[in-house]
Amino acid sequence: MGTAYTGRFAPSPTGPLHAGSLVAALASWLDARAHQGRWLVRIEDIDTPRCVPGAAALILQQLAACGLVPDAPPLYQLQRSTKYQAALDQLIASDLAYPCACTRQDIEREIAARGQPRPRHGELVYPGTCRGGLQGRLARAWRFFAGSIEQNWPPAPMRRAQAAPDSIANQPLHWQDRRLGPQQQNVGEAVGDFVLKRADGLWAYQLAVVVDDGAQGITDVVRGEDLADNTARQILLQRALGLPLPRYLHTPLVLGVNGEKLSKQNGATPLDTSRPLQVLNEAGRVLGLPAGILAQTPADWLQQAVALWSRATKIDR
Ligand code: GLU
Repeated sequence: MGTAYTGRFAPSPTGPLHAGSLVAALASWLDARAHQGRWLVRIEDIDTPRCVPGAAALILQQLAACGLVPDAPPLYQLQRSTKYQAALDQLIASDLAYPCACTRQDIEREIAARGQPRPRHGELVYPGTCRGGLQGRLARAWRFFAGSIEQNWPPAPMRRAQAAPDSIANQPLHWQDRRLGPQQQNVGEAVGDFVLKRADGLWAYQLAVVVDDGAQGITDVVRGEDLADNTARQILLQRALGLPLPRYLHTPLVLGVNGEKLSKQNGATPLDTSRPLQVLNEAGRVLGLPAGILAQTPADWLQQAVALWSRATKIDR
């Protein structure tokens, strides 16, 4: 392998690990080891209202009980706000970020006035109201200039954005997912100008994840398929910030009884890591590893699983 590999697992400490999050952790660990790479853990604790005290320590203990120990001390996003500010400043200087005064109600009103359809997942596509300036209103959030939602953008103050990388123009972005295959999304149409810094003063996931993947030298993002939809936004930010683009592999999800992705919200039970071999086997099965790897210890199980994973996966370069 020509390039050094660095992978990561980036849990939000909103509760203990569950069967679904172990699948992502295990896949990222196996892929790193199968490529003689490093494996890092990043605790994504910026969304403080959702974080649960003690959860980060518990997650690290659960990982360790399964033999998954990071190669460097974990990075905590709460300690990284000066880096996020520096990235936002860089985007502002390139005319790729702008302040926004809109409340959710303002956005809904504007969308209705323009007769725009309400998008998928009930998420509102920002109609670009503040692109041309705040019109005397107070800034609440900062947004990324994702592209042209309408024909006549950008207005004068945003002209410089036209000189930005081609992906920022109004055309779909294409990328390759190692499991899902060719992907595309027009961020301007699908999501609109997305938030970098929230109205409550918290940093948005998209900005933090890109800044930190860059700082940690992540070459391969391996994570659950529920996050695949964020990839285009993250690639736009990587390009805008001049960061290298990692490869992406989105892993299968564990579904709950209701057929939805297993999550803390739909009652996923905490992982019982007092039975590490059993939980590893269950996670391995979701990843397509042969059932029932016979092992005495998690380390032994992992060693066998790496050999199987190496045979099954090949990184396209
Ligand atoms: N912190 C995110 C989560 O737990 C994962 C972010 C990522 O892997 O990019 O859902």
